[in-house]
Amino acid sequence: MSGAGEPLPPLRRRGLCLVLAAPSGGGKSSIARALLEAEAPALSLSVSATTRPPRPGEEEGVHYFFRTPEQFEAMARAGELLEHATVHGRRYGTPRAPVEAALAAGRDVLFDIDWQGHRQLRERLPGDVVGVFLLPPSLAELERRLRARGTDGEAEIARRMRAAREELTHWSDFDHVLVNTDFDRSVAEVRAILHAARSTRARQPGLAEFVAALLAQG
Ligand code: GDP
Ligand code: ADP
Ligand code: 5GP
Repeated sequence: MSGAGEPLPPLRRRGLCLVLAAPSGGGKSSIARALLEAEAPALSLSVSATTRPPRPGEEEGVHYFFRTPEQFEAMARAGELLEHATVHGRRYGTPRAPVEAALAAGRDVLFDIDWQGHRQLRERLPGDVVGVFLLPPSLAELERRLRARGTDGEAEIARRMRAAREELTHWSDFDHVLVNTDFDRSVAEVRAILHAARSTRARQPGLAEFVAALLAQG
């Protein structure tokens, strides 16, 4: 069946921004890691700038670009950040250039950002953002996961649990809302959302030309 007629024009698509949001402990980082492994190199992580200090094991340019408040402010003023917000008292922002380059090249970008960042991205990049909000199966399970992660002391866990109540109210800003009960199932669902979003008409500006060439084949 293949090989007949003129070669078809390559069907290019614009990349999209996949935003994963959840209260702390909701599963963003672990789902993001699994997605990146499964979807590389078509999907890459947006590395944020932050004024918080690195945690043990975090590397400059891999987990975050660690900046002083003065450096961060200079980046924001120079328009180098696509969005920025204060989260848990620290500043976080998305460097603009890598995102714009990836989208133009047809590659997708994954964001682990808070709800304020998601809201700003939607305004800056209308039509390019797919938002997924992860709900915990229960608050007790959220607390259990925060404790099981082993990265935070009791006082920090209590603070994050209080913050979670506020963060959970932002679910309705997002296109998709999942309950992260079974980890593998959640990863599969987010992958399905990504794959479906890639094939919308709006993401593929060359479709009319492609179909015209298809029809022109003997
Ligand atoms: P976590 O709570 O353990 O994931 O701690 P992090 O320090 O990694 O993230 C702190 C918060 O900042 C989270 O709500 C992130 O979603 C948010 N965040 C991270 N990067 C960005 C960013 O570039 N922009 C915005 N707006 N928020 C971000
Ligand atoms: P976040 O990045 O949103 O703060 P994490 O990805 O660090 O959340 O997840 C918090 C903890 O919960 C981690 O130890 C992670 O392995 C675990 N976890 C995530 N999803 C599930 C799930 N569906 N079932 C059980 N544990 C989970
Ligand atoms: P952490 O400091 O624990 O890595 O991140 C804390 C929170 O900041 C998380 O909810 C994370 O999603 C959010 N965050 C990280 N980077 C950014 C960013 O660039 N912009 C925004 N708006 N939030 C971010």
